[in-house]
Order: sequence, then C-alpha cells, then structure tokens
Amino acid sequence: MARIVVLGGSFGGLTAAFELRRLLGEKADVTVLSDLDKFVFIPSLPWVSMGWRSAKDITLPLKDILEPRGIQFRHEAAKGVDADASKVMTETAEIPYDYLIISTGPALAFDEVPGLGPEGGHTKCIFTLEQAEGAKLAWDRFLEEPGPIAVGSVQGVSCFGPPYEYAFEVDYELRKRKIRHKVPIVFITSEPFIGHFGMGGLGASKRWMEDEFADKDIKIITNQAVEEFAPDEVRLKDGSKIPFKLAMFAPAMKGVPAVAHLGNPRGFIPVDENMRNKGVKNIFTIGVAIAIAPPEPTPVPTGVPKTGFMTVRMALTAARTIVSEITGIAPPDAYEMNAICFMDMGNTAAYMGAKPLLPPRQATTLKKSVWVKWMKIWFERYFLYKMKHGHGNWP
Ligand SMILES: Cc1cc2nc3c(=O)[nH]c(=O)nc-3n(C[C@H](O)[C@H](O)[C@H](O)COP(=O)(O)OP(=O)(O)OC[C@H]3O[C@@H](n4cnc5c(N)ncnc54)[C@H](O)[C@@H]3O)c2cc1C
Repeated sequence: MARIVVLGGSFGGLTAAFELRRLLGEKADVTVLSDLDKFVFIPSLPWVSMGWRSAKDITLPLKDILEPRGIQFRHEAAKGVDADASKVMTETAEIPYDYLIISTGPALAFDEVPGLGPEGGHTKCIFTLEQAEGAKLAWDRFLEEPGPIAVGSVQGVSCFGPPYEYAFEVDYELRKRKIRHKVPIVFITSEPFIGHFGMGGLGASKRWMEDEFADKDIKIITNQAVEEFAPDEVRLKDGSKIPFKLAMFAPAMKGVPAVAHLGNPRGFIPVDENMRNKGVKNIFTIGVAIAIAPPEPTPVPTGVPKTGFMTVRMALTAARTIVSEITGIAPPDAYEMNAICFMDMGNTAAYMGAKPLLPPRQATTLKKSVWVKWMKIWFERYFLYKMKHGHGNWP
C-alpha cells in the first residue's frame, strides 16, 4: 500500500487528500499533517476584521472531516523533510512516505520591515484568523476615536488582494456610519501602478482602479517601499511620512522553514507542470509554497499571487499524477496557470479572470456588480460545504 503524506490542511492539502482517497481507496494510506487543527476559509478573513464573520462561520475541525473518510490526521508541525530518505520529521516522530505533497503555504515575513505586523509592530494584518480577530478589536477601538487610515502592501508582497478589499470595506463601513469625512484613507503599495496585483495588471485594471479610488476619495501612493513603521506614521524610503491612527499592511512571504531548504533563496519550491518538485520524483508542491517568477521586474520588488482557485487546480493535478503512477491510468493534463477571483468592495464586488495568470493573455475579465458580491457569499458557503463533505473534486 502506497504511503502518501500531505503537509498542510488548507486549500491545497485538503483538496489533494480527498482526491487521493477518492481515486485510490484502499490502495493508499493517506495522512494529513497540519500544525493547525482546523480548516480556515481564508478569503473571508477580511470580513472577520470588519465583524461580518466570526471564527465559527468559517472554520471546520480537520479531525472531524478527515478521519470519517479514512484519511489519517496528525495535528503537529513538520520540522523538516529528508528528501533522500523520504521522511518527514516532527518533534516526536519520523514519518516515512512513498509520495509527499507539500501545501504549507507561506511564512509571513514581518521581520523584513521594522515596525511591521501585529506582534511587536504597529500595523494590523488579516492573513490569519488570529490576526483578523485582532484587527477587528483594533477596528472597534478606532471607531470610538477615528483618524487617518493607511492601508497597503510593503515591498516584496505577492498577495495584493486583501489590502484592496480592506480599503473598500473600511470605506463602506465608514460611509454607513456617516463618518467617512472624518477619516482620510491612503493606499500605499509596492505595485508600479494601482491594479497591477503582482501580475502585470488585468486588462484595464489600472484605469478602473484609479476611478474606483477617486470615486471613494482614497489617496493612492504607488511604487513605494517602506523604510519603517512608527507607532503613528509610515516612513517611506523616499523620505515621506504618512500619519495613521489605524494601519493594515500586507507582508512579504517566504517558504515555511520546514520545507524552505527544498526551494529557492526565499524558500519557494520550483515545480514542473504536474507540480512535481524539479528533479525529485516523489515530492509534489502546490499552492502558495511553489515558486513562480514575476512576469517582469518592477522598480520595487513584487511577487506573483497564488490564489485559492489556482491552489485547488494544482492539488488536483498533483493528486491525479500520483494516482496515475500508482494505478497505471493515464496522467492528467498539465496544470494551466489560470486565475479566477472575487474581490470584495464593501457593498459590491469585482469578478476577475486571467487566462493565463501572467501576460500575454488569451482572455481577461474584470466586472464589478452586486451579483459578484452574492457569488462571493455563495462561494464561501459552497467551498465550506465541499470541504466538510470531502468533495475535493467538485469544481
Ligand atoms: C486574507 C486573504 C484573502 C484571500 N482571498 C482570496 C480570494 O478571495 N480568492 C482566492 O482565490 N484566494 C484568496 N486568497 C489566497 C488563498 O487563501 C491561498 O491561495 C490559499 O489559502 C493557498 O492554500 P495553500 O494550501 O497553498 O496554503 P495555506 O492556505 O496558507 O495553508 C497552509 C497550511 O499549512 C499549514 N502548515 C504550515 N506550516 C506547516 C508545517 N510545518 N507543518 C504542518 N502544517 C503546516 C498551515 O497551518 C496552513 O493550514 C487570500 C489570501 C489571504 C491571505
């Protein structure tokens, strides 16, 4: 029986584990190892920071969704991977594998900018459940005594969507409370232009986003690196200083320490079109953990986003490739790097489609509509249902 170990119990790890179990049945022993004991629907974290969702709305206990489906769950962190010996090391055990799927996501690099981040820094973040809950408390305090807000992405960021969503959501909430005129909002980003998103823009996204921000009276500062965050101001590398009462900034990302040695200098892992680690036959990497080169160098470094939609596709490709090797059936088509995303904008939302992810593209879509907001809400419910009932292969 093939022993397959999956690192991470999120978008990539769960999808891969369910698909392996569905296609291999008793032919494989599938184990998911995660340092978190729950699945968190990460795209809803900006809503947690606004008080529109709580933890119970967007989490599922991993043990309860994996074990009834015959997938073993180990609630512990991988400390390392010995690729030559085909073993995962934890604090207490060495776990041998025939195939390994790595879906450990990112390590958040707050330490790369002084004063960045909620732990010991001066800015909020909404990339984990705990951070989003902390941002909600800060938001409640802010509303009692409002002032300027700074939102954005520091140098090296690759996940640009959440700061855009946060800017639109605070704008919407402040208008609802009729205090928007008391709150200057500035959006500061390492992107060379607004709407670049780390993927060279998307159709007319620059003009469109400029109009949206102008309509909402949000000031834009692009192409900037941050020198440091003081308790009440952002200090940019060009010498300018922007005051804030509340700041939410995305950090750059790195590969997590346990697998970083398998990757490039930032710890992201190069893979082939079947998600197999380059030069290693039995390790596959998916999701945020993979290395993707930017489409072009930008004056301030930016990375390429790896979305949940992409991660799920990568997981199915990796799982089906392993299945084809074990059973001898035909391998799946190579992974095509396309992206679909619903960007929340408060009381409305935008649908973004990029085929392929990076330019030049066959097709791009960018549409703002209230029906996209409904789709986004529906998608959250649908994805949680899918994971709760083990339907990793559903579209
Ligand atoms: C705020 C926010 C909003 C987003 N919104 C969208 C959106 O609207 N649409 C979209 O498509 N994408 C969105 N994304 C991106 C999407 O969340 C990611 O693409 C997706 O979560 C990637 O899945 P993953 O499995 O690669 O990694 P992750 O989801 O990061 O999961 C990695 C898992 O591995 C575990 N892990 C880490 N290290 C170890 C270890 N050493 N041992 C064991 N386990 C470990 C972690 O605890 C975690 O559970 C958003 C991201 C953020 C941060």
